Amino acid sequence: MTNPAKAAAKPVKAAPEPAKATTKPAKAAAKPAKAAKAVTKAAEPVDGAAKPVKAVVKPAKATRPESHLAMVRRARKINRELAEVYPYAHPELDFRNPFELLVATVMSAQTTDLRVNQTTPALFAKYPTPEDLAAAVPEEVEELIRPTGFFRAKTKSIMGLAAALRDDFGGEVPGRLEDLVTLPGVGRKTAFVVLGNAYGVPGITVDTHFMRLARRWKWTEQEDPVKIEAEVAGIFPKSEWTMLSHRVIFHGRRICHARKPACGACPITHLCPAYGEGETDPEKAKKLLKYEKGGFPGQRLNPPPDYPGRPAPPLGASS
Ligand code: SF4
Repeated sequence: MTNPAKAAAKPVKAAPEPAKATTKPAKAAAKPAKAAKAVTKAAEPVDGAAKPVKAVVKPAKATRPESHLAMVRRARKINRELAEVYPYAHPELDFRNPFELLVATVMSAQTTDLRVNQTTPALFAKYPTPEDLAAAVPEEVEELIRPTGFFRAKTKSIMGLAAALRDDFGGEVPGRLEDLVTLPGVGRKTAFVVLGNAYGVPGITVDTHFMRLARRWKWTEQEDPVKIEAEVAGIFPKSEWTMLSHRVIFHGRRICHARKPACGACPITHLCPAYGEGETDPEKAKKLLKYEKGGFPGQRLNPPPDYPGRPAPPLGASS
């Protein structure tokens, strides 16, 4: 296991190639696992690029497991630095009220937020309230939400939850977790999205990006979303949970991708035990960036005013 906190104190020793390692060269040195590998390489005569400098990283220190306290400090630092990188982090589903957010979140399963955002304007124009949607003709709803995939199952879910809202909650979206999870198609993840973003109740949204990054950053070794949520909740104050979720998901979507993380263009390499899992060459990494970080449109057709990128195009329009 690595010890970034210790390595951070010894930047000169740990970085054979600081310029390549990150957009923040001075901090890039704090990658003990990679540094240890680099030292090993330097001793090999076939590696012409590496200078045969004597080993400068003490193996015992480089491999010492990180304490829980050090991990918590590093995790909180990641959150603070992500807050600077994504001061505009927000939910990437367009919505005007809790009902729209709930329906859009259910529809976002197995598809992108962009595709949902391109689909919901027509849906909500025709069925603006739970009562309207509950009374709809299923085939007509299916046609409207077809672009999001799994449209029959999703029609069943959103019409079912609309009926439950009408019948059990007076046509309002409840603001309590225990009520939300009784609605068809609504699990904890969806419930936390609604609670955090429509009601201001702190919650951690463990989606596929959050799971991947929490494990890459050694915040947890769990694989079950509920266990990940519980462990991460113990690292951060409750007041941070909702924005932390947005920042982590933003980072996962833009830079720290599943298959090819853009490590060479990542601003938090000095805090990341997984640095090097992806492309480390800065120029090549830059090409992997997505949405506003790569100069492309975002996912929302109606992003918040402070969003620095371009809005997403409507369905069928080119970007
Ligand atoms: S693995 Fe992800 S967070 Fe870590 S350095 Fe690479 S892109 Fe950044």
